[in-house]
Amino acid sequence: MGYDVAIVGGGIIGCAIARKLARYRIRQILIEKECEVGFGTSKSNSGIIHAGHHSPADTLKGPLEWAGNQLWDKLHEELDFGFERIGELMVAWDDDQLDTLQHYRDRGESRGVPGLEIWDREQVRRAEPNLNRLVKAALHAPTAGVVNPYEVCFSLIDSARNNGLELRTDSAVVAIDDSDDGLRLQTSNGTFAARFVINCAGMYADRIAQMAGVGDFSIHARKGEEYLLDKRLVGLVKRIIFPCPTATSKGVLVIPTFDGTIMVGPTANPIEARDDLTTSAGGSEQIFSQVQQTVPGISPRDCIAEFAGLRAVADGEDFIIGPTARRGFINVAGIQSPGLTAAPAIAEMVADILRQEGLTLEPNPRFTPAVPKHVIFNDLDTAAQQQQAANDPHFARICCRCELVTEGEVLAAIRAGAETLDGIKFRTRAGMGRCQGGFCTWRCMELIAQELDVPITEVTKRGGDSWILCERDGQEAAHAD
Ligand SMILES: Cc1cc2nc3c(=O)[nH]c(=O)nc-3n(C[C@H](O)[C@H](O)[C@H](O)COP(=O)(O)OP(=O)(O)OC[C@H]3O[C@@H](n4cnc5c(N)ncnc54)[C@H](O)[C@@H]3O)c2cc1C
Repeated sequence: MGYDVAIVGGGIIGCAIARKLARYRIRQILIEKECEVGFGTSKSNSGIIHAGHHSPADTLKGPLEWAGNQLWDKLHEELDFGFERIGELMVAWDDDQLDTLQHYRDRGESRGVPGLEIWDREQVRRAEPNLNRLVKAALHAPTAGVVNPYEVCFSLIDSARNNGLELRTDSAVVAIDDSDDGLRLQTSNGTFAARFVINCAGMYADRIAQMAGVGDFSIHARKGEEYLLDKRLVGLVKRIIFPCPTATSKGVLVIPTFDGTIMVGPTANPIEARDDLTTSAGGSEQIFSQVQQTVPGISPRDCIAEFAGLRAVADGEDFIIGPTARRGFINVAGIQSPGLTAAPAIAEMVADILRQEGLTLEPNPRFTPAVPKHVIFNDLDTAAQQQQAANDPHFARICCRCELVTEGEVLAAIRAGAETLDGIKFRTRAGMGRCQGGFCTWRCMELIAQELDVPITEVTKRGGDSWILCERDGQEAAHAD
């Protein structure tokens, strides 16, 4: 039987659209080539919910940034993910940059972004004493927030699935042709027909559009390297610190993440390969030299982990959202920054487009907005921790020492769908601390192998061929039992 809607790509955009459409009585499927959702750009970004004044008014990004920003509180209330509005400071170092601050304040105010204020040096230094004392002034935007983006993807998809979405992972769309009543998607794992196809394939959205015969745009990769710092620096800055932006980049930021770790980055370098996620000595040098001018107390020696994400940049730099010449085929492409911020507003927009294109969206009377909350052992007080451990002995065993993650939480993550080390890491934080999995990797692998009943040699870091162990010639795979 065919679907009303097939969503291609399970990043933040595909997941937000699936969750939005789960409010209606339709049959929908989300097709994702990776083994879990959120494993593309949506897990490798700065995790900022932008304040609402960063993108220009004459773009699609501009209004969607502010519209999206305002939808995050409701989403946070209903779903289970880390989010806090900590505010941001855009800092100026000289008189010329004061004009930039005013320009951004005016832009935000014309859009209705509340609370924008230009602070003088004394105000800035009082609020952020670890900033370089040469700071001239800063634009404070209290509406900016930080979020754990991978948790949002998992939470959105759990909610959509609880309300009827069918999820197909490990399934790459390889061809698109006509079906009786719409379009047929051939994937590496089966064929699916749908009246409407929503193309949210991130870095590969141009290729999916080409398969549908409407490939009139191209996507280019712009790499951003990010560096995570040791938790000893928790509290060094309380707000997100931005320099004055340039035409292609928001510049190098200092970001107090939701979990408390300080992150610095990203770079913004155009690259050819769409899958090159390497970090580089040059990138590190660039980030730390710039960031030390802003917050002199930061040193490259504090770095405990680094990663890169790829911005999917369309010709013209703006989002491409809308129906195409191929009936039923809708593009949601070129979603670079502020795509994370805008995701809930993009989902609303896509629902409107579907209505205009003829899909009836009747409310689903059984829609349940909330998802069950996961236990975060480290956040409980001692009495609650003791109670949790008494109720379930798995919570009495620590798996990740750096982040104080229990085996109970790791098992809950596997039962919620994590099949890989990264799936566990992004659901529980096991492996994200100072030792970067040196202690907990083996135990997480054992738990995956036991729960999924697979040989431990089959356990991967992030699906595909990212195995961690290999068998010696002639030796049978070890079962962890
Ligand atoms: C370094 C960096 C920092 C950023 N910081 C921020 C920020 O702080 N705030 C903000 O708002 N935005 C930020 N962004 C932008 C934001 O991360 C993106 O806009 C957003 O993640 C894009 O989501 P997406 O769902 O379009 O793409 P993705 O997350 O890449 O999802 C696309 C999905 O499609 C799947 N796919 C591809 N081809 C196929 C196929 N053939 N078949 C099936 N599935 C397929 C992929 O596997 C992937 O999972 C940042 C981006 C970068 C790179």
